[in-house]
Amino acid sequence: MYDIIIIGGGPAGLTAALYGVRSGRRVLLFEKTGYGGQIAKSPLVENYPGIRAASGMELSEILRGQAESFGCEFRKERVLSVTDGDIKKITTSKGEYEARAVIFALGTEERMLGLENEEKYVGRGLSYCAYCDGNFFRNREVAVIGGGNTAVQDALYLSDICKKIYLVHRRNEFRAESSLVEKARLRENIEFVTDSVPVEIGGTPIVQCLKVKNKLTEVERELSVNGVFAAIGQIPQTKEFSDILPLDEGGYVIAGEDCTVRDGIYVCGDCRKKEIRQLTTAVSDGTVAATKAVAFVG
Ligand code: NAP
Repeated sequence: MYDIIIIGGGPAGLTAALYGVRSGRRVLLFEKTGYGGQIAKSPLVENYPGIRAASGMELSEILRGQAESFGCEFRKERVLSVTDGDIKKITTSKGEYEARAVIFALGTEERMLGLENEEKYVGRGLSYCAYCDGNFFRNREVAVIGGGNTAVQDALYLSDICKKIYLVHRRNEFRAESSLVEKARLRENIEFVTDSVPVEIGGTPIVQCLKVKNKLTEVERELSVNGVFAAIGQIPQTKEFSDILPLDEGGYVIAGEDCTVRDGIYVCGDCRKKEIRQLTTAVSDGTVAATKAVAFVG
């Protein structure tokens, strides 16, 4: 039996693991894919205090290694269900486990564009991770969709690899930090296509064009691209646990700044309902959730 089981190996979960093991508790962390969550897909992180610049992947490995060095156990297993009680039962793709407290650090996954045939193009020119797939489009023309930090960072990253980048955003103002937007405006091979939404991806069998529509003029334009990178935000990965976690209408877990759902059940990181989702607020949540869990297990 474990004192604390953590579900999710992004920055929030890894921080909770670090705080849990450093408090002398037996901690197990489950991760279904790769460690680091969304940040692992970021080519460059420049706003994590104490580290001037690192790739998201490097940062994730540092966090994981740090928790492991203090004795955290890790398993690459998908958690299928959690049953509440004095002793929580955790069923995974490979077995059953018990813990006195569970911390949900479920993170988010990419929001899909909602276009017809979208799934058909995944891996055939449509990607949700510029950092992972950008190299396939060396010297090609691509479109990035979105106006947040991810989209603008993706456009900047791709501008060093690709011939031309269309940055397609549904408004004229950007949610992304203005310093990033200014940087992108200075790149000669990034064209801003604002007030525009994607309406259709074309090409057989791989992406050959993206049709976009200007929302103000209703005029459609066909961009001749080989790659489309969708970066239109995230959705929380909480659906499987809706029986045990209170969720808001967007699927985020409802819990206050104490990261406590109820005694023995905690939540941290981007899957929690909160105003600001950043790497720093994720690790902050991880600290709070683990501290609460440690106090509960005694
Ligand atoms: P985000 O900030 O939620 O931005 C999503 C963007 O997609 C917005 O511009 C939004 O437009 C647009 N969008 C949403 N739904 C759309 C749709 N159906 N069609 C077209 N456009 C749509 O997501 P994100 O950029 O992935 O960032 C997520 C969080 O991670 C943010 O808090 C961000 O600051 C953080 N982050 C941090 C770093 C870093 O360097 N530390 C890097 C990446 C991300 P509207 O603006 O019109 O709503």
